[in-house]
Amino acid sequence: MTQPLLLEQTRSGQTGLSGFTVDLPIKRLIFKRFVAFFVLFCVIVLALAGPIYWQYAQEQQQRLLAQEETSVVATTQMIQKEMYEQLHLLDLLKNSPAMVEYLSSGSATDRTRLEVLFKNTATTYSRFDQIRLLDNSGHELVRVNTPQGEVQVVPSDRLQDKSHRYYFTEAKALAADQVFVSRMDLNVEQGVIEQPHKPMLRFVTPVLDADGDRAGVLILNFMAQNMLERFRLQMSRRIDQQGMLLDPQGFWLSNHKRSNEWGADLDNPTHNFATLYPDAWPSVAAQESGVVETAQGLFRFQSINPFAFSLSQKTDFRPRQGALLSDATIANTAWKLVIFLPKEVIQAQSVLYQPLGRTVLALIVLSLAGVAWLLAYNKVHKLARRRYHQAVTAELSDLYEHAPCGYHSLDTSGHFIRINQTELAWLGYDHEEVVGQPFVNFLTPDSQLRFNKFFTLLKTEQEIDNIVLEMQCKDGSTFYVSTSATSLNDQKGHFAIARTSVFDITDRIQLERKLEQLANMDALTHISNRRHFYERGELEFQRAVRYKHALAILMFDIDYFKRVNDTYGHDGGDVVLKQLAKTVQDSLRDLDVFARFGGEEFIALLPELSAEQAALVAERLRREIAEMPVIMPSGETMNITVSIGFAMLTAQDKQLDAFIKKADLALYQAKEQGRNRVIEFNADSEQ
Ligand code: GH3
Ligand code: MG
Ligand code: MG
Repeated sequence: MTQPLLLEQTRSGQTGLSGFTVDLPIKRLIFKRFVAFFVLFCVIVLALAGPIYWQYAQEQQQRLLAQEETSVVATTQMIQKEMYEQLHLLDLLKNSPAMVEYLSSGSATDRTRLEVLFKNTATTYSRFDQIRLLDNSGHELVRVNTPQGEVQVVPSDRLQDKSHRYYFTEAKALAADQVFVSRMDLNVEQGVIEQPHKPMLRFVTPVLDADGDRAGVLILNFMAQNMLERFRLQMSRRIDQQGMLLDPQGFWLSNHKRSNEWGADLDNPTHNFATLYPDAWPSVAAQESGVVETAQGLFRFQSINPFAFSLSQKTDFRPRQGALLSDATIANTAWKLVIFLPKEVIQAQSVLYQPLGRTVLALIVLSLAGVAWLLAYNKVHKLARRRYHQAVTAELSDLYEHAPCGYHSLDTSGHFIRINQTELAWLGYDHEEVVGQPFVNFLTPDSQLRFNKFFTLLKTEQEIDNIVLEMQCKDGSTFYVSTSATSLNDQKGHFAIARTSVFDITDRIQLERKLEQLANMDALTHISNRRHFYERGELEFQRAVRYKHALAILMFDIDYFKRVNDTYGHDGGDVVLKQLAKTVQDSLRDLDVFARFGGEEFIALLPELSAEQAALVAERLRREIAEMPVIMPSGETMNITVSIGFAMLTAQDKQLDAFIKKADLALYQAKEQGRNRVIEFNADSEQ
């Protein structure tokens, strides 16, 4: 129950909490608590801050995406505008008088006019690689080329048959006012991809003569290089610059990494979006626009629909029956703009990945750790303190209950409030039999009187020490105790409780009595010795003098005792002394004082006897002694006699010694007159 470590002594020798600081178990306990608190705090903080941070990250993403919207819209509109312009130029050439008149007349003059128109157009709009007019059988009628930016009219003898080219085939299927636009590809010259790459789009539409009959096909070879450059410029202004333009198959028309571009044309079938971003591709391919998040990052994609712009908003094309663009055109130009925000880029925007954010985070973690440590430290120390106090309390209680002395507390009327086990065990009572009872019930009558005096005194004194009382046990036996009491006052300063310690001093009292007895007793005869005679004799003498009571004194001396010793040895003499003492003691009253006065002399004080009565007693004693048979150690029996001098107290007697002297003088006379007789002191005969 108690923890020994908590009660260990410090080096200074004091039991105390300071000892804990060096205790390893305490440190380990604190560390354990610290870890528990820290983990708990982290879980709480994560649980609380996690959703907030998630929300923040979502908002961060939304903010980033919102920033991208400008690029998306601007870029889409830029491309749509480009396409729209080409459609207009195509329309312009198709419906120009030079075109219609040449197709109607076929004259050389008209042809030259058309050549000039083509040349001016190519020069003015420097974006066309070729402008051509084919007849209905696929032969080139008029053609301008722009090698290295310089516009050239191709002479008639160098014009070619293009009847088997896909764009001519497509053109045949077009309605009169419809347009076909090819997929964007890299220009091929003499069977080889032209360097530097020349991305190309062909705009194709049938042309009509003045009668409205189909008379040929107009083809614009549009160089998309500048448009793609503008696209890249737009993308380069964005965060991380990872913007891309995809063809309908997912090959890059433009990519921040240029080597990824034109996978299909350059025979790099893996250089496509689906291979590099497999998780994002299905969404990008299937949906018009949207956002897709993968482990790689965030993709914002948007179908360009390059001609949607012109069709929905700009209706300045002539009213028509069917669609302006062929189905193949729509399929060929289903480009997609994809803006990619890699995970690292998004994270870099987050406050947690910035120095300030990291510092704050570190501070929060440190604070949590600090608080956890403080809590753990306080908790463990509180616990340690509590255990320490429990241990101390238990120890104090144990000390109180089982101290080698008794303890009890009494209320103002002297009733037990509490009592310890030691004292209960002495008394032989149970706790319930004692508490609430008056203390005097457990004292002998003499001690009750003494206690009442001492208890009254205690109410005025703070402390009373070493009062000897005799206590009464349940079994009727008694024992002596020395009690010391301290008075405890209530708040008003009035006596409230007597706190008493009780020491069992029975042994001491018995020893004292024994010693007193020994000090008073003659060792040989076991009657009072000379010292004790004086003690008791003085009291009797003074009382008799004060109250003028009668008092007789008797002095005995054995006759010829030396002879007894000489005859029977010293031991034999001792037997005589013992037997004489016993005989006289038995014959006298309890109130008489009888003692061995020296060697073989005895003395007796007989109170309250007249001179006649005293003489009779003396005579009786003399006779009893003379008739007393004494059996010697040798087995022989012998008799002794004594001479007795006695005196009566008179008004002149003031000193015990002088009174004794009178008896002594009478004894001397008894010896003188022949021994074995009683002689009363006679004052006259002394003078
Ligand atoms: P008297 O009749 O004149 O008294 O003669 P006595 O022999 O008794 O003479 P006295 O009183 O002078 O003798 C005392 C003797 O008592 C001397 C001593 O040896 C003896 N005596 C004193 N104390 C003791 C004692 O304790 N034991 C024994 N055996 N003898 C003692
Ligand atoms: Mg003598
Ligand atoms: Mg003698």
